[in-house]
Amino acid sequence: MRIVSLAGGIGGARFLRGLLAAAPGSEITVIGNTGDDITLYGLQVCPDLDTVMYTLGGGIDEDQGWGRQKETHVVKEELAAYGVEPQWFGLGDRDFATHIVRTQMLRAGYPLSAVTEALCARWEPGVRLIPMSDDRTETHVVISDEQGRRAVHFQEWWVRLRASVPAEEIILVGADQARPAPGVLEAIADADAVILPPSNPVVSIGTILQIKGIREALESKTVVGVSPIVGGAPVRGMADACLTAIGVETTAQAVLELYGSPLVNGWLVAEEDDGVGLDGVGLDGVRVRSRPLIMHDVESAAAIARAALDLATELSASRGEPAGTQGEDGL
Ligand code: GDP
Ligand code: CA
Repeated sequence: MRIVSLAGGIGGARFLRGLLAAAPGSEITVIGNTGDDITLYGLQVCPDLDTVMYTLGGGIDEDQGWGRQKETHVVKEELAAYGVEPQWFGLGDRDFATHIVRTQMLRAGYPLSAVTEALCARWEPGVRLIPMSDDRTETHVVISDEQGRRAVHFQEWWVRLRASVPAEEIILVGADQARPAPGVLEAIADADAVILPPSNPVVSIGTILQIKGIREALESKTVVGVSPIVGGAPVRGMADACLTAIGVETTAQAVLELYGSPLVNGWLVAEEDDGVGLDGVGLDGVRVRSRPLIMHDVESAAAIARAALDLATELSASRGEPAGTQGEDGL
């Protein structure tokens, strides 16, 4: 089976680990979010790509969900001793090496997709990881504080301010010019199923969908999404602050509506979110199914991935049949 998954950071990476366990032998292409990317101390940092690479490659700090295991912070301390800003972004020594290699290759003229492939040669994540675009984009957040109304980098709002100041706007700078990276549209065209993991619907999945051509390419495929909202709240992080900024409620149903039809064909919601028409046909003919959606470990993530793939397989099989048969299970 050829599977394409979009992915942000922690939610995406943990789901992908389950997907690998649930679909051995499948060819999985991951389209990674690069809207979170930031230049720090002259180095190009790609937090979401690295979270996927380290998680699938066995190098992640499991408790934290990002960064390297057995990490030390000597470089950060030394930078702070020089008074170098910013001091609110945590980069460990091992992680620094990744950003040094990436930056060196980018400066030598390699596109980010080629650099990512080279980094993955070490980590062997078991998937083909492609950045959404080789063109630089950055998510910026408009806030109002004592310094007035201004735009800050997404990371400053998320990490330094912990999203405590309301976001008035969330903008992907560079989206107009950015083209999908080589291989992205081809992988989508060849896919038997496309999965939207439980990643942040605004600044992870929403960002990838803003790259010209990606949403359109997905619309003709069988796409199954997994809700990142469980019991009316994000499982981890502050996705509610992002949803509020774009005027969307923090519910599984509102996220489904945000992705919309014809993009999404199947939607997995948590068992506690029973407002969407469980185990039947939801919005605009989207087939909605409820499952336990908390990823406690690889096994529970794999069970979610299996449910997503099963739903995709059923939906593919029923494609082209009269709409009336859509709600039936076991097709
Ligand atoms: P980030 O880039 O590190 O913020 O990670 P992602 O964008 O990939 O994922 C963040 C989203 O993952 C948040 O909105 C969480 O609600 C969601 N998430 C994290 N863990 C779980 C989980 O166990 N189950 C579900 N359903 N969603 C989760
Ligand atoms: Ca992210």
